[in-house]
Amino acid sequence: MYFGGLLILSSCVQAQHKPVELTEVPSVITNPDNYRELTEFEAYVIINKGTERAFTGAYHKNKEAGIYLCKQCNQPLFSSETKFDSGTGWPSFDDIIEDNVTELPDADGRRTEIVCSNCDGHLGHVFKGEGFTSKQTRHCVNSASLNFVARKKG
Ligand SMILES: [Zn+2]
Repeated sequence: MYFGGLLILSSCVQAQHKPVELTEVPSVITNPDNYRELTEFEAYVIINKGTERAFTGAYHKNKEAGIYLCKQCNQPLFSSETKFDSGTGWPSFDDIIEDNVTELPDADGRRTEIVCSNCDGHLGHVFKGEGFTSKQTRHCVNSASLNFVARKKG
């Protein structure tokens, strides 16, 4: 019985996020026909604007130096230098890479949605004035929307 529970839990977690192991920053995919294939859960987040459960993603605890890319099109979105531990259970960044993240009014009429400026993939939401960092900005991002490329050492 106990084992059964563990197996169900682990297959569930794997289905939710499948970090792709990348060693180089790949080129941005501009043709929608060539976007990276998404798992069912990734599509739920990126296409249907879903939200992964807090503390379940691959990157909320990641402290490695590197770049976070859009899972669907490889566009660089966030740098590890702007990542901070918000304690919310989602990767949190107080800045974006240049113009690569677009802010939109959320369908809920209250929050501000953030999407990849190249493929319009849903990333999460941006919150301002919370006092976490001097920039007063928290980009709250689903790990499922991201791939991470660690900076080469040495
Ligand atoms: Zn994208």
